Amino acid sequence: MIRISNVQKAFGSVIVLKGIDLTIEKGELVCLIGASGSGKSTLLQCINGLEPIQGGEILVDGISVHDPKTDINKLRCKLGIVFQQYNAFPHLTALENVALAPRVVAKRSRAEARALAQKHLEHVGLGDKGDSLPSQLSGGQQQRLAIARALAMEPSYMLFDEVTSALDPELVGEVLETMRLLKSEGMTMVVVTHDINFARESADRVAFLCQGEVCEIGTAEEVIDHPRKEQTQKFLRREK
Ligand code: ADP
Ligand code: MG
Repeated sequence: MIRISNVQKAFGSVIVLKGIDLTIEKGELVCLIGASGSGKSTLLQCINGLEPIQGGEILVDGISVHDPKTDINKLRCKLGIVFQQYNAFPHLTALENVALAPRVVAKRSRAEARALAQKHLEHVGLGDKGDSLPSQLSGGQQQRLAIARALAMEPSYMLFDEVTSALDPELVGEVLETMRLLKSEGMTMVVVTHDINFARESADRVAFLCQGEVCEIGTAEEVIDHPRKEQTQKFLRREK
């Protein structure tokens, strides 16, 4: 599981995370919602060890992300991450994009990496797109490619940062469908989203972040349908 305890994060003098406590259990899908600037992306970057923290601790399977003694590259293999902007290598085919990290980072043989890549392309519904360049794929397909790339490292956790926000509305569904599939297979997921309907339908728990704090947390029914805090109510009135 991922255990976040009293995490403090500042950029210079600007305090962005003010003592975040959050535990994500195995198999859980936790959605992070909140206004732009509330610290959602920063929190994901801290979980992944991409950003240092100034206080508190994040444990992934009991291993402290920010302990200098931790092998962060090894730990990062447990954490797949997908961003809003697709970031495939444009000169590599879809299959080569997915096979790259298994080859270079996990030191798999060329044949093994390609087989693994094909398996994960099929997993996200892109089994017939292996030879396509990213530019030949739709935005929805490119996001599914990004998911396949993350899955190819066989992570225990998947972190998603507004992966549908840059997509045309008609392409959002196929990406959410892929995320629901992962959830049904038991993947543990932390999903930053503005898609309140997705959070309502798919999240085991929803955390509402407000100015660097977890303002409210609970089931989707509790936080989205019956928010107790005024800030949550106000935010949801704007989003719905
Ligand atoms: P969200 O993802 O919820 O929109 P962010 O985590 O991106 O919020 O940002 C939280 C706050 O941290 C914002 O005020 C933002 O300007 C600031 N911030 C984020 N990244 C950086 C950075 N690399 N340097 C300085 N400030 C940053
Ligand atoms: Mg963000």
